[in-house]
Amino acid sequence: MDLIGHVIGGEEVAASDGGTFDTVDPWTQQPWAQVARGTREDVDRAVAAARSAFDGGPWPRMGYEQRGRLLHRLGELIVAHVDELAGADTTDMGKPVTVMRAADVPRAAHNFHFFADHARLRPSEAFPMDSGHHAYVRYDPAGVVAAIAPWNFPLMLGTWKIAPALAWGNTVVLKPAEDSPASATLLARLALEAGFPEGVLNVVHGFGPDAAGQWLTESPGVDRITFTGESATGRAIARAAAGNLVPVSLELGGKGANVVFADADLEVAVPWSVRAIFSNSGQVCLAGSRLFVERPVYDEFLGRLVAAAERMVLGDPGEPGTELGPLASGTHYRKVTDYLDTIPADGGKILTGGATGDGWFVRPTIAVDLPAEARACREEIFGPVVTVTPFDGEDEAVGLANDTPYGLNAMLFTESLRRAHRVSAALKAGTVWVNCFFVRDLRAPFGGVGDSGWGREGGDYSREFCTEPKAVVMDI
Ligand code: NAD
Repeated sequence: MDLIGHVIGGEEVAASDGGTFDTVDPWTQQPWAQVARGTREDVDRAVAAARSAFDGGPWPRMGYEQRGRLLHRLGELIVAHVDELAGADTTDMGKPVTVMRAADVPRAAHNFHFFADHARLRPSEAFPMDSGHHAYVRYDPAGVVAAIAPWNFPLMLGTWKIAPALAWGNTVVLKPAEDSPASATLLARLALEAGFPEGVLNVVHGFGPDAAGQWLTESPGVDRITFTGESATGRAIARAAAGNLVPVSLELGGKGANVVFADADLEVAVPWSVRAIFSNSGQVCLAGSRLFVERPVYDEFLGRLVAAAERMVLGDPGEPGTELGPLASGTHYRKVTDYLDTIPADGGKILTGGATGDGWFVRPTIAVDLPAEARACREEIFGPVVTVTPFDGEDEAVGLANDTPYGLNAMLFTESLRRAHRVSAALKAGTVWVNCFFVRDLRAPFGGVGDSGWGREGGDYSREFCTEPKAVVMDI
């Protein structure tokens, strides 16, 4: 079996003690590679390499032009290596390779292209003052950024964290999820091929609590922590970051509300609702896992939803026709199927779906008749499971949608312009999609309220986090 190494200071290396762990292909349920298991010494070495590349290396001192050229080159190399990168995430976590090729890999490349240009075009502001002084802002890079990524969009979310940090002149230590390590090492190799100086992008593999992830968040050599993952992990990371007073950005879990009004175009609402909950087998923070449908169209909508769910093709994620692969790991499969057991126990009914009984597959699952306090309605299942609840009128819809500790995103479907604005304003969420889902502009803020996180990423919001803005006031 291959060894997926750390990348530290421009070299691919094994763990300091030679330790490894297996990464498992969820389709075959067999280990397919061994991964360096990060020790505290590995984390310290990676942070030291990033520190020295920041303090003495060329990266933070290059102009935006030159750094931008390297970032664009990396974006091009990502596209040129689409097969390897798509294959890595598919084998690690079971996402259909067609989705990887069409969406995740191009978006990973786009993250570098976008932030390369954004950093170059948004370098500063100047304020001529009434007093005759002149104030301007320098956006100086913050230093060493620790990026900790989840397994559901390994390459895409890893690059979403790394690209702005690098574009603003920081150096990075990435700790990918233990269930999806391969694409991070491939990415670091491509960065070296693109001509990145050594130590600018480092990767340390390993586990989270009491291991590489935690040690990275506790490291005194780190200046920023950017994390995407579960809300409970986010709390642990915020506590660790407080120890060194390090600013932290937290993109956490979700329990997205999807509100379908009776005046919605069901030709639009049904396909988007299917995509919102079932794509990537529901392993999406933004998943529209709580569907609320206005009573006059409830039966018709549900009928169409069930039919669409039952048409979805499950199978080998390496095959082109597959829409849904297996869940990412055995542990996650057991978590999702445990939630399925709570549905009848909490008084609900499963209209379609459930475990296939063959491998780590769960069919698109639609549950109805659940009380609002049911576990499936309140907790993030992170699988292809949606609860559907009828409502009467706008006020009830907003009340139901906002009745959650999460607030990452919400969707609403209506043909009324006035209602679209009114309800968007009333929903508690970092993003509201109207008559669509998952459409992103990297200039717009992305993040959540409540248990869904701290801070926003994207465009100027990422700049704010990745830099130390400094005011320079001059007497003219
Ligand atoms: P997770 O929190 O279990 O792990 C995420 C990463 O954190 C992994 O790399 C893990 O090793 C590391 N980690 C775990 N404990 C740690 C600790 N104590 N200190 C430091 N690092 C630690 O999450 P997951 O299961 O990989 O991902 C699924 C979760 O991510 C879901 O809750 C999902 O909603 C969320 N998510 C959020 C977004 C968003 O943008 N808001 C996007 C994708 C996923």
